[in-house]
Amino acid sequence: MTGAQYGAIEAGGTKFACMVGSGPGDVRAHVTLPTTTPEATLRQTIAFFREAERTAGPLAAIGVASFGPIDLQPDSPTFGFITSTPKAGWANTDIVGALRSEFGVPVGFDTDVNAAALGEWQWGAARDLDTFVYLTVGTGIGGGGLINGRLMHGLVHPEMGHVRVPHDLTQDAFAGICPFHGDCLEGLASGPAMQARWLQPADQLPAEHPGWILEARYLALALVNVICTLSPQRIVIGGGVMSNDWLLPLIRHQVQDLMNNYVRAAEVLHGLDAYIVPPWLGGKAGVLGAIALAQRTATTSSPS
Ligand code: ZN
Repeated sequence: MTGAQYGAIEAGGTKFACMVGSGPGDVRAHVTLPTTTPEATLRQTIAFFREAERTAGPLAAIGVASFGPIDLQPDSPTFGFITSTPKAGWANTDIVGALRSEFGVPVGFDTDVNAAALGEWQWGAARDLDTFVYLTVGTGIGGGGLINGRLMHGLVHPEMGHVRVPHDLTQDAFAGICPFHGDCLEGLASGPAMQARWLQPADQLPAEHPGWILEARYLALALVNVICTLSPQRIVIGGGVMSNDWLLPLIRHQVQDLMNNYVRAAEVLHGLDAYIVPPWLGGKAGVLGAIALAQRTATTSSPS
């Protein structure tokens, strides 16, 4: 295999997915490592990249798609750090600096959801779009994407999982589990929230369980907020909870109901099957997005 190769890390709270290659059709090595301490996990990650370099040549750049919160301000003294995470031992971890000093190559860094959005833009469900949202619903809920061709950053980075949605306590007495907000979207609709409410994991709830209607309602309320706020050309929605494939049609139905024909775009009026879609890259969106981040640091042809 010829051509530049890139290192990619999808840094998650439970695992690090690492890959070497240049895209979905050119994966030269990959490994999944458990997230333990920063020192041990980064040591294993570096060892994986070093071994890949021995067999396939040097990495041109590295991309990191990270859990957060993270510091994305280039002029900040803690740029490239995982900052205030509640994940034990990981607060104030200089993940970019560790890789840059080890390999001496550019390191692209962004949220796991922005990276996944970039992967879907480059190879998946969001090609040719300049404004779209990628939302993941799993252990947590997060969102990112592109606005006018640029990755969403702003003040810090979007925290779409922590938006507030109407919570009718007469219909749903569950208080929510977000340690910061209680019944924000993540507190009500993440996988752990479903488990806490129904006392069994989401993937064990049968399709006819009323919990899915409620889940679809909360996610639809959030999507309507996203549609009305950002005017995305498409919404890509993935994550472990979304792997229950009856959920997406329920969400589309409720979005249709909640929008009530207000936004006069064909995509929203009668095209929701193609407007709210699963990621084409599936569970690989994050790590492939990290490849795209790495490529972006080495070229100027991708959105910044
Ligand atoms: Zn919250």
